[in-house]
Amino acid sequence: MNVLGIEGTAWNLSVAIVNEEEVVAIVNDPYSPKEGGIHPREASQHHAEKMPSLIKAIFERFPKEKIDAIAFSQGPGLGPCLRVVATASRLLSLKLNKPLIGVNHCLAHVEVGRWKTKAENPVALYVSGGNSQIIARRGNRYRVFGETLDIGIGNALDKLARSFGLSHPGGPKIEKLAKEGKKYYPLPYVVKGMDFSFSGMVTAAQKLKNKAKIEDIAFSFQETAFAMLTEVTERALAYLGYNEVLLVGGVGVNKRLQEMIDKMCEDRGARLYVPPSELMGDNGAMIAYTGLLMLKHDYRTSIDESHVRSNFRIEEVEVRW
Ligand code: AMP
Ligand code: MG
Repeated sequence: MNVLGIEGTAWNLSVAIVNEEEVVAIVNDPYSPKEGGIHPREASQHHAEKMPSLIKAIFERFPKEKIDAIAFSQGPGLGPCLRVVATASRLLSLKLNKPLIGVNHCLAHVEVGRWKTKAENPVALYVSGGNSQIIARRGNRYRVFGETLDIGIGNALDKLARSFGLSHPGGPKIEKLAKEGKKYYPLPYVVKGMDFSFSGMVTAAQKLKNKAKIEDIAFSFQETAFAMLTEVTERALAYLGYNEVLLVGGVGVNKRLQEMIDKMCEDRGARLYVPPSELMGDNGAMIAYTGLLMLKHDYRTSIDESHVRSNFRIEEVEVRW
């Protein structure tokens, strides 16, 4: 079976085709803001403009006659972006006369990670621009055991970087600066039960701007934020009695975060699984692969049910595999 998947919930417009074994084709056209952060309307215009050429490009790499289903990122995400993706997907499904499958974006991050790492039943730390959640499967659903109460960690890193005049995406730039940092400045460490918050930290770090070196601020920010994420991931592992951690989402490529989670896993006799970097951030292959799993388990999304779901939660999906 071959499934085509379209991702475009935020910055990355990406179309991919997968079969059971591998990603057979993928084309990306990321949106990068001229200034500031991701602007939903601008991003959606970018997606609408680029969609036709991406669809054309993917079918130059793989024959459309061999596609068995069209999967699309139905949510959560930015409303205007989701609408572009859903519209293109409905059209393709009707034109090729193949079933349509609406995919939960968070579930797709987790499933592509499991596929590529062979993690079986992990606690997933999902860290991206808009989302930060600790997810694990219980019975036939994935549950969120802890999450951010305000902004995602990626968003927090991007904001901090922006206030230093660094362009979007800021995460990789903060990582680079932090490597040169030595002095630790305490920042608000906010963990409430299993949930956490980052916006107070961003404000506090911004206030250090003319008092501390930028490298030290980046270092202090990463140390504090990643310790919070590590603490909650560890608590979920202990509570569930699981022994695997899967890191997913664009922030997951950060080496310092990987190191901290890995150390915690080592101390507990658990194992950390890290998917290939190109499949950690938003990408079409994760949507195509999850669509393939869903196709095999008889999920279908009728045109009537294909409306976008900007607040679509992972718990809402009944998992049949
Ligand atoms: P996603 O939404 O999953 O595609 O992830 C995008 C987010 O990942 C953005 O906020 C980026 O700044 C962030 N990101 C990408 N690379 C890194 C990195 N090396 N360290 C920290 N954050 C990163
Ligand atoms: Mg994402």
